[in-house]
Amino acid sequence: HYRCRSAFKLLEIDKEHKILHPGNRVVDCGAAPGAWSQVLVDKVNSLGQESVGFVLGVDLLRIAPLEGAVFLSKCDLTDPATHRKIIDLLPSGQADVILSDMAPNASGIKELDHQRLVGMCLSLVDFSGTVLRPGGNFLCKIWDGGESSLIRDRLQQRFQIVKTVKPKASRTESAEIYLLAKSHKSNNAPN
Ligand code: SAM
Repeated sequence: HYRCRSAFKLLEIDKEHKILHPGNRVVDCGAAPGAWSQVLVDKVNSLGQESVGFVLGVDLLRIAPLEGAVFLSKCDLTDPATHRKIIDLLPSGQADVILSDMAPNASGIKELDHQRLVGMCLSLVDFSGTVLRPGGNFLCKIWDGGESSLIRDRLQQRFQIVKTVKPKASRTESAEIYLLAKSHKSNNAPN
């Protein structure tokens, strides 16, 4: 019943690394068509009675409504106006978890697509500095390549633990990997 098989990657990562909990406020970046959000509604209990979480999905594309989730459709995550909308919608203006499965339209030039996606994730890490609570978790997809160390280094400055994750549900021949950063440091002054 998932909108897309990418749901199984998130389920697999969460099963092993325990990043989602009831009551969490989660931002799902690049959320269309909404399969990760479907997983999140269940994991954070956004339709429950107790420990009720909050799921906010954001995408350039339109995302069809989903019970238990709030969506910002047709919004660019590299645009500061989108960041302001996210802060306004989040309870107390803070997130416990930020996830990104964003992917730009591939040009077919591997190194260029890699660099663009790393750039988008770097800007998301910077935004996380203002919206992710201390101790919060961050997960992003990148296409591995020459600039992967840029994003890994920045995560290492701002989180206690950084891991590279390759879910089995992600095809082995694909360059796609996930970077998991746990426990956001409380002092995120740029250095
Ligand atoms: N995790 C989603 C799911 O389970 O349904 C699938 C995400 S799909 C692989 C990648 C998404 O990233 C696309 O829908 C695309 O529109 C979105 N995207 C790419 N660049 C974006 C940007 N700058 N801002 C917001 N969304 C973006």
